[in-house]
Amino acid sequence: MRVAVYCGSGMGKNPIYAEKAMELGTVLAQHGHGVVYGGSKIGLMGKVADAVLTAGGKVVGVMPTHLQTHEIVHPSLTEIHFVESMHNRKAKMVDLSDAFIALPGGGGTMDEYFEVFTWAQIGLHEKPVILYNINGFYDLLLQHFDRMIEEGFIRANQKSLIRVATTAEEVLEIIK
Ligand code: AMP
Repeated sequence: MRVAVYCGSGMGKNPIYAEKAMELGTVLAQHGHGVVYGGSKIGLMGKVADAVLTAGGKVVGVMPTHLQTHEIVHPSLTEIHFVESMHNRKAKMVDLSDAFIALPGGGGTMDEYFEVFTWAQIGLHEKPVILYNINGFYDLLLQHFDRMIEEGFIRANQKSLIRVATTAEEVLEIIK
């Protein structure tokens, strides 16, 4: 499978984020899964890509041309696609991937996660969308999802689209 990984262009304060990002990259590669991501060598994004490549896996980067200077292009990717815009990046990543995983990150990661989550909600795809809740980072978001369900803004039958993993093994189990 090819798995899109969305994650921070920063590293986060706690070293556990980088450790778990690298562990996930290694485990995905060891199980023969390729990774699709934003193509940058900075932050957690770079850590995931490095780990997949070190473990002998394939990494496809999708980089908008205007971001090239901010997000330094990873020099050793298996494949890199340059695209015109953020919209094209997200669309290309969706086309290339069979599943989506969001690791901790900032607004960009959330944007990417919610786009593929909401597309699943309205039936535009049936690929799994996983929140990898490292270090409890997404606990408050998960509480908020509960509130959206309680208050009737996410239908109960859509709850199954909110897939959560707390270990790399659980991520593998979901994408299997
Ligand atoms: P962040 O989680 O904010 O560190 O960003 C992670 C990735 O999302 C980076 O590759 C950013 O370029 C990208 N990104 C940031 N803002 C947006 C946005 N509005 N739409 C799509 N991607 C974004």
